[in-house]
Amino acid sequence: ATPTALMVGTGRGAQLGILIRGPEVLESTRAVDTVVLDKTGTVTTGAMTLLAVHVAEGESEDEVLRLAGSLEHASEHPIARAVAVGAAERVGELPPVEGFDNRPGLGVQGVVDGHAVVAGREALLADWGQHLPESLQAAKQRAEQAGRTAIAVGWDGRARAVLEVADAVKPTSAQAIRELRALGLTPVLLTGDHRAVAAAVAAEVGIDADQVIADVLPEDKAAVVGRLQSEGRVVAMVGDGVNDAAALAMADLGLAMGTGTDAAIEAADLTLVRGDLRTAADAIRLARRTLGTIK
Ligand code: ADP
Ligand code: MG
Repeated sequence: ATPTALMVGTGRGAQLGILIRGPEVLESTRAVDTVVLDKTGTVTTGAMTLLAVHVAEGESEDEVLRLAGSLEHASEHPIARAVAVGAAERVGELPPVEGFDNRPGLGVQGVVDGHAVVAGREALLADWGQHLPESLQAAKQRAEQAGRTAIAVGWDGRARAVLEVADAVKPTSAQAIRELRALGLTPVLLTGDHRAVAAAVAAEVGIDADQVIADVLPEDKAAVVGRLQSEGRVVAMVGDGVNDAAALAMADLGLAMGTGTDAAIEAADLTLVRGDLRTAADAIRLARRTLGTIK
């Protein structure tokens, strides 16, 4: 394509709400055959709410919310915001947390009111020798089968509760995925969340069950992109989080949600300004048209 055509394409992108890092990006956009989508904040709104609290025998819901709420108050993760807001609504002011530690893709830990508190994936509690009793195991399974995220909470060596949080699929996600398919692309869902939750979201937006890659730690997301590339696929990755930055950089084409974190935007080739997944399909159409390929 001529430099003029590329400039026109870049300008047209801006009108569509697509910021393109440089004209050469259009070239990599054209060849893409696979689109890897982060779940939380990309396919879903990321605005989670606390739906339910399940406690082990003898535990108090309010105490669980007070301790987990103050711990999550120190984190900016969408799950953390849901727990902190839901807890503050129920129990009022939350105590301060000391020695707060964020464990990306796993959860959070810290000291609240003299208790060593941990909240997140079951594997994180297991690191602390805490195991969910059968009643909480069952609550967790039911929540995940319903497409919700179950957050385990424990302190002082014992697992005490499971919190249920959920976020909604963005109203434009299903249509965006239909448009990507119509362009001949294969959508893949990539998430650190549990397999059952990922499967429920995939079914809702029309991603095939065999294209769901779940339980992936943040540092492994880039390796998943690399594996797809080594299978000969040309991969676009769409993400919003700090945990997506390395995968966005690894992909043949990185697309960041404009509503996401600076780390994701800096790592990406394209920014979808409005955070609307349909503009990912617009970007690919634009690149093909600008470069004069009919496919
Ligand atoms: P995604 O890939 O969908 O954007 P993340 O990699 O950020 O998700 O998180 C993966 C999982 O780690 C979450 O589903 C949750 O179980 C756990 N987790 C992460 N951060 C937190 C937190 N602040 N509090 C509780 N659990 C968390
Ligand atoms: Mg995300």
